[in-house]
Amino acid sequence: MAQWSQGVLSLNFEEMDLNPRVLAGVKASGYTKPTPIQEQAIPVALKGRDVLALSQTGTGKTAGFMLPILQRLITGSLGSARALIVAPTRELAEQIRQSAADLGKNTKIRSVAIYGGVSKGPQVKALNRGAEIVVGCPGRLLDHVSDGSIDLSRVEVLVLDEADTMCDMGFLPDIRRILAHLPKQRQTLFFAATMPDEIRVLSNDILDDPTTVQIGIIAPANTVSHALYPVTDALKKRLLLHMLQQTATGRVLIFTRTKYRARVLARDLEKAKYRVAALQSNLSQNRRLQAITGFRDGKYDILVATDLASRGIHVSEISHVINFDMPNTVDAYIHRIGRTGRVERSGEAFTFALPEDEVLVRKIEAVLGARIERRCLPNFDYGNFTPDVWDSRDHPKPQRKDPRHRDDEQAWTTAHRRQRTSARPSSKSTQSRPDTQRNPNNPRRRRFRGRSPASAVNPDR
Ligand code: AMP
Repeated sequence: MAQWSQGVLSLNFEEMDLNPRVLAGVKASGYTKPTPIQEQAIPVALKGRDVLALSQTGTGKTAGFMLPILQRLITGSLGSARALIVAPTRELAEQIRQSAADLGKNTKIRSVAIYGGVSKGPQVKALNRGAEIVVGCPGRLLDHVSDGSIDLSRVEVLVLDEADTMCDMGFLPDIRRILAHLPKQRQTLFFAATMPDEIRVLSNDILDDPTTVQIGIIAPANTVSHALYPVTDALKKRLLLHMLQQTATGRVLIFTRTKYRARVLARDLEKAKYRVAALQSNLSQNRRLQAITGFRDGKYDILVATDLASRGIHVSEISHVINFDMPNTVDAYIHRIGRTGRVERSGEAFTFALPEDEVLVRKIEAVLGARIERRCLPNFDYGNFTPDVWDSRDHPKPQRKDPRHRDDEQAWTTAHRRQRTSARPSSKSTQSRPDTQRNPNNPRRRRFRGRSPASAVNPDR
């Protein structure tokens, strides 16, 4: 199991002076010890201080702000919006609301998620019933403000979650408009994975003498191992099908560049008898929820999504993220692969890279602080294309060996296990390694088609 880079954790939830009813929610959620971001952020937030948290996705940041909110709301009057959490996507808003419900299940605190694409009616009803925690996306929140269906004048805590993503999505003006409706006297908790200039300015404007907490470098969770598969666009689909057949996977999240490509790829995978759903922004909110819920509950093994989905999917057992198309930016890569390897689970991120993706690959490697291993899929017919899996500048080209050579296999299997156990991003490898499946005795060499995802996830753990 992956260890936190910060070393031994010293503070337990029990030592955080949480109200017993809040602590009961922590236990019911199965959290035994705080993650580093929780360990750092919760005690500060419990004191009522502002927090600037630089935390990558998948580190447990939601509970990092939700527990102090529940602790605060459990005392004082109920029946009005006292905590406002602003998040970039509907999916993320729903996940945060669910977390409020789970962690607060032994309290009387109610929550509502507010986002566009669905009717306002039920949201208005929940607001009228007096939800204390409001989780909202900026646009719909402002709609409710201008309709007069939400009163933000009693908000005591504001959380901006994935503030950098909101900035990327052009929500900054909306956020400033929302801020104008909030009391000046409040606690603000600010979460971002990266700090572009605009976000730094916003945080300076709205935080009052904040405590900054930062977990490691701004890089993907270190429970993810990465690999690049050099390929051509024409070969991608066939490569994916071979990869899925050969790889022991659990839940697989595949990213494409466009909605069209997501739709077509999902259809092709369905034809190949995979249990698959597509998630892209042309779908109605109901269809999007069905796709995510079906993926989370195991109805689908594969979700094919555009970047929209990378922001809001919180499914704990995603074993593989496959970038069928390279993302546009380093941030997008980090967000995408943040969908796997969440908290203490380990995951693998495979990226299909075209020769023209090389520049971005270098940038990603700079953030990771390590070279991403180049692999070619064994027994796959690349035709005229020769995948460049060697980095001649860094490494001498090793002699080719018969891939079935036993010593070679054992050396690789050991190295691969070590890599997974240490759960670091791909090491600075000196050799290209075959995939797990090359060793016919490897227990991971299984097909997942038609099997239940639970049994397919990491059979070696
Ligand atoms: P987040 O980064 O908040 O999206 O959390 C990622 C995942 O970690 C979610 O599935 C949480 O339920 C889970 N999680 C959060 N805190 C803990 C914890 N202390 N121990 C184990 N899992 C956790």
